[in-house]
Amino acid sequence: MKTALIVGITGQDGSYLTEFLLKKGYEVYGTTRSLHGSSSHFVRLLDVLSDITLIQADLTEEGSIAAAVRDAMPDEVYNLGAQSSVASSWKNSVMTAETTAVGTVRLLEAVRSYAPDARYYQASSSEMFGRSPPPQDEKTMFHPRTPYGVSKVFAYWTAVNFRESYQMFAANGILFNHESPRRGLEYLTRKVSDGVAQIVFGKADSLQLGNLDTVRDWGFAGDYVRAMWLMLQADAPDDFVIATGKAHSVRDFVERAFARVDLDYQDYVISDPALFRPYEVHSLLGDPRKIKSCLGWEPEVSFDELVAMMVDADLKRYGPL
Ligand code: NAP
Repeated sequence: MKTALIVGITGQDGSYLTEFLLKKGYEVYGTTRSLHGSSSHFVRLLDVLSDITLIQADLTEEGSIAAAVRDAMPDEVYNLGAQSSVASSWKNSVMTAETTAVGTVRLLEAVRSYAPDARYYQASSSEMFGRSPPPQDEKTMFHPRTPYGVSKVFAYWTAVNFRESYQMFAANGILFNHESPRRGLEYLTRKVSDGVAQIVFGKADSLQLGNLDTVRDWGFAGDYVRAMWLMLQADAPDDFVIATGKAHSVRDFVERAFARVDLDYQDYVISDPALFRPYEVHSLLGDPRKIKSCLGWEPEVSFDELVAMMVDADLKRYGPL
């Protein structure tokens, strides 16, 4: 039986990856900063809590991260832990760098010391491309425009450096936006699906958003965790873009989300310039040909299916119509 350590198991991707690995027969360990968080902190893991081992660890504390690796003695390590919000990274840039950038060094040093043969997955991000025009692939120059993106570039090169310097199996998945009903409410797509549900249930009469013309490549988180795992089963460590290869604007997402409940978004959505970011990353569109041809990965959930899944889940959360 293989053992996996998921750093950041309580998050959206951590929960999908846990379910995926348990189905594959893995023993799963996962870290969280607080074992005594409220039940809502573990809400994404409720169905699997009795099948996994949770460890308290924080990427900003070297000792706790080292202990997590020592306790789990993993065959595979998935580093999903991060201050993962682009918006928060403007307000908390030092903490973002401490967690997302330097935290990756702490984890890789721990893996090098205590589980040097473990295969390591680094959650890199399309935000690393920032200003580089689309489509973006593995050879596109990084030009991050946010504190989050800058930290992810540091973490990306740290993983490459450990691979080249110490011959460790360290692989970067450069993931474009991926969503699900488990996405945090502070993120745009959940703000939209939740906003639609609130309007339907009479809890709100409008939805304030930032720039509706921003373009992203949106996929389903459940499809993307399968790509993470595939990367660690490859013959050699490598870096891959994980994306759908299809671009949609925020307006497209919003329009479909409201159409799902037979409403016209133009009657409800306000684009508020106060919510625009200091520097917008206008267009991210991934080219996933490498992972498709090398590892046979394909996304299974379409953009329309993703929007419908998210809106339906939020409608259900507020109760029967
Ligand atoms: P998420 O839901 O925000 O989860 C982030 C996880 O990081 C949480 O489980 C949190 O756990 C943990 N964490 C936060 N600060 C930490 C710290 N100081 N030490 C240890 N763990 C910490 O993020 P996600 O959407 O699942 O994304 C997973 C990873 O992929 C992240 O690294 C994200 O940046 C990256 N990524 C995401 C996307 C996307 O579209 N979702 C795209 C590209 C890359 P606790 O609070 O329990 O400690």
